[in-house]
Amino acid sequence: MGESNRVRNTFEVPFAQRTVVILGAGIIGCATARQLLQHGFSVVLVAEFLPGDQDIYYASAWAGAAWHAAGGITADQRYYQAVTHRVLLKMAQDPESGVSVVDAREYLEQEPAPDSAVWGKTVVSKFRELDPTEYPSNFNCGWAYRTLVTDPTRHMPYLGKRITALGGKFIRRRVESLHELYEMFPDSRVFINASGLGSKTLADVQDDRCFPERGQNVFLRTHRCNTLYFRNGKEYTYVIPRPLSQGVVLGGVKERDNLSPEVDLDIARDEIARAHRLAPDIVPEHPADDVGCRTLLSAYGFGGGGYAFSYGVADALLKMVEQAERRNVIV
Ligand SMILES: Cc1cc2nc3c(=O)[nH]c(=O)nc-3n(C[C@H](O)[C@H](O)[C@H](O)COP(=O)(O)OP(=O)(O)OC[C@H]3O[C@@H](n4cnc5c(N)ncnc54)[C@H](O)[C@@H]3O)c2cc1C
Repeated sequence: MGESNRVRNTFEVPFAQRTVVILGAGIIGCATARQLLQHGFSVVLVAEFLPGDQDIYYASAWAGAAWHAAGGITADQRYYQAVTHRVLLKMAQDPESGVSVVDAREYLEQEPAPDSAVWGKTVVSKFRELDPTEYPSNFNCGWAYRTLVTDPTRHMPYLGKRITALGGKFIRRRVESLHELYEMFPDSRVFINASGLGSKTLADVQDDRCFPERGQNVFLRTHRCNTLYFRNGKEYTYVIPRPLSQGVVLGGVKERDNLSPEVDLDIARDEIARAHRLAPDIVPEHPADDVGCRTLLSAYGFGGGGYAFSYGVADALLKMVEQAERRNVIV
């Protein structure tokens, strides 16, 4: 009896048909599903919120979402960002993806630190240091380059459709623990936890290092929507163009442990004022009010950078899934 159980658990579903289970259908879960499906894996995503939804517990619906190099990250993390850039650049050829190529200008208030975002010049195109006459006098230096922006309102539904077309399956369901997931898929051997903030409350994860960080954006309708502005430093502010939606997203606020879904108009007014100081050509001072035997891979906690890391992380996860399944097959 024990032996037959063991045999059944291990071999009933052969490798080729075994499903990789992803908890979470935000940009991380979906990018990973796409990557795995393109490499022949069978994939199911289980999530409370799915592409196209909007909820405070679904960060991927709200991002800016610009690709700009992060400062203070490791060599591996830089490579994840670089791979993401490569994937997005290809996607930008299809307007349905919601990805566009735009010009960018980044201004710094202080000398760049040794591990600053300037490493991104190896990834983006047309990078050049700005001459002091080209940026406002209150900044220390500035860079211009071409980069990529993703419109989540288009990209997430696009990704959802691609996953389904590749044979992936979505199950809308909230689970209380990873164990619940293991019971739903007794034959699966590889599980990916891409539940974002969910990892704080899942009964068998309860990762205390996870915390919510509230951002709030203002969408401004304008035809001047081809240049990204990013202010690094005290007045962290961005103006992210959405050429496909004829507008820009203004923002630059991070509030730790705030989960309020209410729009804070004081923050919105402050963001508009800061964006006006950063890019007066685009943002008027007073715009209209358009306002066991399992392998568990953890893929959550991307803070303000989930889109910039997404496809690179997906690529890394693909390799980890392949390694894990290789260990399962070559016993
Ligand atoms: C205002 C704002 C601006 C941003 N700008 C940028 C930017 O310019 N560039 C950038 O790279 N990033 C940006 N980000 C960050 C980016 O949005 C996040 O890093 C990214 O969306 C995180 O994706 P995720 O897939 O990890 O999590 P999420 O999108 O939160 O997805 C989590 C998934 O897990 C599911 N889930 C969780 N718990 C459970 C459970 N118990 N049972 C079932 N399902 C569960 C959810 O339903 C959901 O499907 C911004 C974020 C905000 C808020």
